[in-house]
Amino acid sequence: MTIGATTIESAEALSVGTELLLGEIVDTNSAYLAADLAERGVNIYWSARVGDNLERIQAGIRQALERSDLLLMSGGLGPTEDDMTREAIAGVLGETPQVDARLERELREKFASFARDMPERNLKQAWLIPSAETLPNPVGTAPGWLVRTEAGGKERLIVTLPGPPRELKRMWTGEVLPRLKLPSSALFTRTFKTFGLGESAAADLLGERTLQANPSVATYAKKDGVHVRVAAKAASLAEAEALARPTLSEVEGLLSKHTWGVDEDELAGVVLKTLGARGLTLATAETFTAGALGFELSSQEAIRQKITSQKTPDKTSGSNGSYAGGVIAWTMQAISALKQVGFELEGLTPSEQGAADLAKAVSKLFGSNLGLAIHGAQDAADTQAVFAALYDGNNTQTRSFTFPRRQAGWLRERSLYAGLRFLQTQL
Ligand code: AMP
Ligand code: MG
Repeated sequence: MTIGATTIESAEALSVGTELLLGEIVDTNSAYLAADLAERGVNIYWSARVGDNLERIQAGIRQALERSDLLLMSGGLGPTEDDMTREAIAGVLGETPQVDARLERELREKFASFARDMPERNLKQAWLIPSAETLPNPVGTAPGWLVRTEAGGKERLIVTLPGPPRELKRMWTGEVLPRLKLPSSALFTRTFKTFGLGESAAADLLGERTLQANPSVATYAKKDGVHVRVAAKAASLAEAEALARPTLSEVEGLLSKHTWGVDEDELAGVVLKTLGARGLTLATAETFTAGALGFELSSQEAIRQKITSQKTPDKTSGSNGSYAGGVIAWTMQAISALKQVGFELEGLTPSEQGAADLAKAVSKLFGSNLGLAIHGAQDAADTQAVFAALYDGNNTQTRSFTFPRRQAGWLRERSLYAGLRFLQTQL
């Protein structure tokens, strides 16, 4: 049921909503769509946001039709005056929207099914223009449109999708993708995730490779370190992978000392996987990170164990996770819990020794194989000293890090990933 004779080679997104322009919400829809299309071999050269203003939306549509085979619009399909994506398209195409009898019936049935009268202004969600076919929305009230038109002597498609990401994704995968004629080319990507390497140091290491086009090598600074993405495009995924392979193994070799994972890996998840494979349990003690470390580990543990919000990862409930729990040594009360396992307050000195004392105490408190501590110095300098320690029942390894002084949230994040990476390198 693909529509259109020509293969879609280029696409662009136009996200509609004043709230997107003002930074009240972030345009995640265009990122989602662009990433998916890029993987399917479609070129994305433009992406834009426009407010709820008829003329400007129409200017955006006209411009997109001149230069891209497929225009993906999201948002503005609601029932109110400021939702005018349909009006804008109809205006550009010189067509008049009509209420479609079948869509109207379905819409009224939808409202009846949740025992509500349909406000008359919702009727515009049943509009159709001659060039559009409708895209059903099983999880919301607003159907989308797939519009076929012509511009610059070429066939062009416009797709309208609902703003709420859940509805958009459902319509995209369920209704739009099966109807599009996409290139037979494919994109292969592999992302190496590193820690302890700045973005410019990573770029230096990669040298000329970052200037190549296909395969391309790009660096991205992220909260859990620098990510390096190798991408190659070819007629099939197998060919793209073959094209990428030489660059892939070079990059892999260059980064090997710093790489902690690839693609969808999360650092805490990778660490837990290793612990699980070795049958080791871990407890954590943290001071200024105030639970950030425990939150990261427990979140990844829950994903690994497919634990939903109702249950806790508890051995008595049949879970066999590696993360036992932790102590947030934020106040004296919290620290006194450690006293029962012989922890002395003097052990809280801001030093590697302080972290070592915490790591040992928490491992005893939880009866875990390993104790990991992250502890920080309270000083007035322009840098912040952070100490990590790992106790394994016999020995303690420690490490110190120096971070520039920035806001507390940033420091917590850096410190928890530094601590996890330290743990990973000790395993
Ligand atoms: P709208 O159809 O424009 O009324 O959008 C409905 C809701 O969808 C908005 O309130 C947002 O919560 C969400 N939304 C709209 N556009 C986007 C977008 N580009 N990215 C993420 N969420 C969006
Ligand atoms: Mg809106």
